[in-house]
Parts: sequence; structure tokens; C-alpha cells
Amino acid sequence: LMIALKENLQRKGVEFIFKSNVTAFEKNSNKVNAVITNTGKYTADNFVIATGSWIPQVSKMLGINLLLQPGKGYSYTYDHVEKNIHYPAILVDGRCAITPWGHNLRIGGTMELSGINNKVLVKRMQGIYDSAKAFYPGLNIDFPPADKIWNGLRPVTPDGLAYIGKTNEYSNVIVAGGHAMLGISQGTGTGLIVSQLIQDKKTEIDINAFRLSRF
Ligand SMILES: Cc1cc2nc3c(=O)[nH]c(=O)nc-3n(C[C@H](O)[C@H](O)[C@H](O)COP(=O)(O)OP(=O)(O)OC[C@H]3O[C@@H](n4cnc5c(N)ncnc54)[C@H](O)[C@@H]3O)c2cc1C
Repeated sequence: LMIALKENLQRKGVEFIFKSNVTAFEKNSNKVNAVITNTGKYTADNFVIATGSWIPQVSKMLGINLLLQPGKGYSYTYDHVEKNIHYPAILVDGRCAITPWGHNLRIGGTMELSGINNKVLVKRMQGIYDSAKAFYPGLNIDFPPADKIWNGLRPVTPDGLAYIGKTNEYSNVIVAGGHAMLGISQGTGTGLIVSQLIQDKKTEIDINAFRLSRF
């Protein structure tokens, strides 16, 4: 999905600059003129802060405080499962999701509030594995090796809703993020709203619930 998305955007003229960390902004009273990074300074008409779990750090560079914390999730992907299941499922009581494709199978879940880090607590993965085995006792999968367990940070706001909107402080800065467990699903809709905000168009939906100043 991500490869297809990236290639599609590149075909449309989007330029990606990888391994480039925003460290500061160049600004005047109510406008940002440039973003300063370790790969150089970039000027633009508009700036979108969409840094997921790092939204508080980046917005703080502009003196804007937003409540948000990372919620770590874990997953493991098996690349050859004999007699694989056929349908994806969210095992709500087991707090995990299980996704087959071909002979592959991904099990993932959990929500660990432990700040920004990529440490793996194996017992978290154990909970996911135990749930999968409890719901699918016939599934022939071993517990994954600790160094192969994947983890990622979901950006979580106090009410679980994203922040989408222009900042009060700077007329050309938009924040878009904090989608917690639904960032992939909701990213396209958020992208549409961001493009409408930049063009000063009426947004597709009322975005009051997502306002930055709600806490
Ligand atoms: C186990 C798990 C399962 C999930 N399953 C689903 C699912 O089934 N469906 C769904 O919709 N969502 C799912 N999610 C949630 C989804 O992954 C997130 O909501 C989504 O990734 C958030 O996207 P984002 O672009 O806002 O933030 P991120 O993906 O966190 O991206 C933020 C980016 O900003 C960069 N960044 C940070 N600081 C700086 C800086 N100073 N300068 C430059 N760049 C910076 C980071 O490096 C990162 O690349 C899942 C998450 C997990 C962990």
C-alpha cells in the first residue's frame, strides 16, 4: 500500500525528501516562511505538521502545545502458514487483529503508553499470540523471535479524535494528525480536508470536532 501510494504521488509531481529532520522554523509574527532541517532550509507557501506521535515536539517549535501521546502497537508477520485462515478478523475481546494474505499471516495489536521509544516488551506480543491461538486453536504458528517483532507508534489524543485545522498562531500552518488506530483508513479524508484548507475552500465535512484548541 505504502509503495503504491508513494509511486502514485511521485507520478503527480510530489517530491519526497527522506531522512530530513525538522529542527526549527523561520517565521515572522503570524506566518512561517521556512522549515529548517538537517538537510537544509525549505521555503513554502504553506506548512503541514503531520508528524504523528511527534506532533507535540514539532508544534512546540512554534510555541504551540498540543496534547498527544504515542500508543505503541506490536505485530508479527508469518511468511508461510500451512492451512492459513481465509478471512481477516478483529478479535475484540483478545485485543488483536489477524490478517491473512496468501500464505502470509499478520497478527498485531495492543496499546502500550510508554512514551516515544521502540523498545519491545515481549510479554505484549505474548498476549497477541495467545489471543490468536485461543480464537484459532488449529492455527499452526510459533511464537515469533523477539528480534523480529515489529512495533509502531499510534498518535493518540485525549479524546481519540485527530487534530485537523489551521493553527490560530500562524495563518499558513496546518496540523493534521492524531488518528490513533485509524490513520491509514482516515488519512485520505484528512488529506482532502488539508488540501481544501490550503485552497481556502469549504471543507468536505464540518471539522469543528477536530479543532486544535479543544483541550
Ligand atoms: C500495530 C498497529 C496496527 C495498526 N492498524 C491500523 C489499521 O488497521 N488501520 C488504520 O487505519 N490504522 C492502523 N494503525 C494506525 C496507523 O498506523 C497510524 O494512525 C498512522 O500510521 C498515523 O500516520 P501519521 O502519518 O499521522 O503518523 P506516522 O505514521 O507516525 O508518521 C509520522 C512521520 O513523521 C516523522 N517525523 C517525526 N518527527 C519529525 C521531524 N522532526 N522532522 C521530520 N519528520 C518527522 C516520523 O519519522 C514519521 O515518519 C495501526 C497502528 C499500529 C501500531
